[in-house]
Amino acid sequence: MRYSYCPKCGGALRLNENERLVCSACGFVFYQNPSASVAMILIRNGKVLLGRKRGRYSGQWCVPCGYVEWGEDVYEAAKREMLEETGLRIEITSLYTVTSLYGEPYLGTEWYNPEQQSVMIWFLAKETGGELRAGDDIDQVGYFSYEELPRIAFPVHEIVIRKLLEEQLIS
Ligand SMILES: [Zn+2]
Repeated sequence: MRYSYCPKCGGALRLNENERLVCSACGFVFYQNPSASVAMILIRNGKVLLGRKRGRYSGQWCVPCGYVEWGEDVYEAAKREMLEETGLRIEITSLYTVTSLYGEPYLGTEWYNPEQQSVMIWFLAKETGGELRAGDDIDQVGYFSYEELPRIAFPVHEIVIRKLLEEQLIS
């Protein structure tokens, strides 16, 4: 989504020669960048922890994830989202992969989503405490092997879960 009006003065935004939105009244440059999000991979006995979504993707599942808040450290965001959605306290053990939730590989496919541009940082995590229970926008949580996978809400999650299988991190 591209904005039409300047957040500073309300003037009309126009695209300049560098494809940047610039205010025609005050000259403000509106830098529009993808947001940052985090996803936390927790594996137990060859199964990956998934949560079932409420709301727009109701009944579909995904790896616990969420947006990084303004001013928030990505590692803190990962711990916060995990606690909110699954009740678990975690420690990040490593960075697993980074994906664009739009972008070149998905052009022309149903996975291409220019309306929701976010860079997702995927972490491998280990449980350090808490108690497994669904929370926030998740109404059920559970561990799944690849062949038991329920309907996955987001294609990029399918891609990463498939990568976990190929690298034998899950079975
Ligand atoms: Zn302006």
